[in-house]
Amino acid sequence: MDSQKLRTEGKKMLDFVADYWDGIRDRKPLPDVKPGYINDLVPAQAPATPEDWAKIFDDLENVVVNGATHWHHPHFFAYFPTALSYQSIMADILSGGIAGIGFTWKSCPSMTELEMSSLDWVVDLMGLPEHFKNSHNGPGCGIIQSTASDSTMIAIMAARATHVERIKSEPTFMKWVSETGVGKTLKNIFDRVKVNKVDDEASGMITPYFHDPTVFERFVMYCSDQAHSSVEKGAMLSAVRMRKLKATRGFLGNYGVSRETLQNAIKEDRARGYIPFMFLATVGTTCSCGVDQVDELGPVCVEEGLYLHVDAAYAGTFALCEEFKYLIRGMEHVDSFNFNLHKAGMVNFDCSPMWFKNGTHVSRYFNVDAVYLAHEYQTTASDYRHLQVALGRRFRSLKIWFVLRNMGVDKIREYLRRTELLAAEFSKLILENGKFEHFVPQHLGLTCFRLKNSTNADNEKLCNAINDDRRIHLVPSTVHGTYFLRMVVCSQLTTLDDIIYARDVIFELAEKLF
Ligand code: PLP
Repeated sequence: MDSQKLRTEGKKMLDFVADYWDGIRDRKPLPDVKPGYINDLVPAQAPATPEDWAKIFDDLENVVVNGATHWHHPHFFAYFPTALSYQSIMADILSGGIAGIGFTWKSCPSMTELEMSSLDWVVDLMGLPEHFKNSHNGPGCGIIQSTASDSTMIAIMAARATHVERIKSEPTFMKWVSETGVGKTLKNIFDRVKVNKVDDEASGMITPYFHDPTVFERFVMYCSDQAHSSVEKGAMLSAVRMRKLKATRGFLGNYGVSRETLQNAIKEDRARGYIPFMFLATVGTTCSCGVDQVDELGPVCVEEGLYLHVDAAYAGTFALCEEFKYLIRGMEHVDSFNFNLHKAGMVNFDCSPMWFKNGTHVSRYFNVDAVYLAHEYQTTASDYRHLQVALGRRFRSLKIWFVLRNMGVDKIREYLRRTELLAAEFSKLILENGKFEHFVPQHLGLTCFRLKNSTNADNEKLCNAINDDRRIHLVPSTVHGTYFLRMVVCSQLTTLDDIIYARDVIFELAEKLF
């Protein structure tokens, strides 16, 4: 393919995408394929010689689209939404077209600087604390991570390092070292507080200073028992203990961790010789869209010296609207905050903004230097590689820049409000035949419901019947052993008629079964 062919074939590809969008309603949200279906369509070995592009293009419908779950179908009500806009498709084309890797300022100045300024726009639009801004003269900063899961793990490792550093700079730590002998083999350990590692030049051994396992051995972090699975994964990969605190019904009649629960856990664990170092709050839990109230829990974290991270993967975007600002109450207490514009923010996957109150600290914890990465501006410009795990990074800010400039924030607000209104509508409709009840009150785009006077098995049977039927798609969840169905308004194409259609399908299948 040469650049001329890119022009002609690229235009056809855009037409293909636009046609997909125009015709999405004619499909079903779930594909009718079984695992391994691709083996009949794609040969086991790569071709020995290049194939004609037209032949590949002809395969797209059969191999790719026919086996895809259509996340933007108006009858897709599963998980949480994934965002989409034509502007961000354009941004991804440009990002892929430029194909640069902006790990340092020098490696792609526009990638770094547009990210810094577009995230400052988002801070203003959401009403987040000024100290998160890249342009603020304090140590706060914002970065676009790939996913909320990445952000969670980075937050855990940053929190762990913050606490390791704190402990190591305390006289008690010195005493502990002299008593236990830990650290005696490390060269000049206490003279090198500012560096990330302690190396033994003779053997080539590197011992991390901020990520020293001998110090975090008894660390424990907290989160709600409703936190996303990525939190457990992050804790597991960061090799720290995690305690899931029982969420109780409170704010909005939904599930969250109470102040007392957190305080008691900290007290109990200290008495047992553990070192509490972090609380990870969820604003908008995956199961039921419950909220750990940050304005209640934040002061506890500050008093007890715990790092506070907020995972607002889905719900965070709603704070763009005045009426949902309650979701970001208490942000002044937060050490890091993350949400996915690629969920409800009309910015295609992946785009997961994360802000740190003290990014300077975090970049020290993640800093590993190599001569080939150094540049003349590294002490004055921002190098995003220090705030993420990977070295390489994509030009994700183009998506925010295009969407906010060409679509405008009011369009996103309109989508968020419509989503919430339709969900509120569904939550009324589902009660109409008298067979169903809400599990928790509808919150944002999510309605949780189950059959009245039923067992978990009944609800599971219904959920399976709905998904086998394939006219609509939703997924179930459980909270403290109770199984229920989750209906999320996801697609921008979903209308009131689609919500009524969903109710009709559910009622019809429930009628057949019970
Ligand atoms: N956190 C919460 C509360 C979520 O609901 C989800 C996904 O739905 C995630 C984290 C994971 O998001 P990501 O796919 O961006 O890692």
